[in-house]
Amino acid sequence: MKFRGRQSIKHLVESLGAPHPEIGVIQVNRQVATLSTITQDADQVEVFPIPNGCPVEPRFVLDGHLGRLAAYLRLLGFDCLYQNDDDDEQLAETTQREERILLSRDRRLLMRTAVTHGYCLRSLDPPEQLKEVIERFDLRSRLAPFHRCLRCNHPLEPVAKEVVFDRLEPLTKLYFDDFQICPACGQVYWKGSHYEKMQKLVEEIIEKNKG
Ligand SMILES: [Zn+2]
Repeated sequence: MKFRGRQSIKHLVESLGAPHPEIGVIQVNRQVATLSTITQDADQVEVFPIPNGCPVEPRFVLDGHLGRLAAYLRLLGFDCLYQNDDDDEQLAETTQREERILLSRDRRLLMRTAVTHGYCLRSLDPPEQLKEVIERFDLRSRLAPFHRCLRCNHPLEPVAKEVVFDRLEPLTKLYFDDFQICPACGQVYWKGSHYEKMQKLVEEIIEKNKG
């Protein structure tokens, strides 16, 4: 491309549409460079996508459009912050302060300097988005389904059936014996139809990534 003045690799690459958290190895004139390296006229710049894997604990922040993906990730046991009224600045700030991975389809948001770890979702379909996240951060060995509250993200604890008995629907009383409760918000969970649907999805993901 034509030289447009001295600028950082970050600025250069993002002007072409790729948010910096998606960038891996950078080379300028075959020497290792960084996002803040300043380019000169006639430099040969090579930028490679970040490889799949997770350099930090897989804890996430999701932007306000990703409620279903947040529920899926929580269902699989992942710590996910999600509020549909956070603005971009709050999201970027939380990502930085808590060293979380930001998930979004908004490239501008992912380009913010405060965002170190992030991923730009390609699909609009939540189950597909889940597959993308599992693949990108190589999460298959870390799935822990039904250990986290879908409503508030708190880890669940087992609870005896008699403790929650009065709160159950007649058929649930009849067919289920294992229950979990969220100590933060009180929501009760059991392995009903939600569970079966999720099991199927998890099996599909594992199957898809086998070979
Ligand atoms: Zn809860």
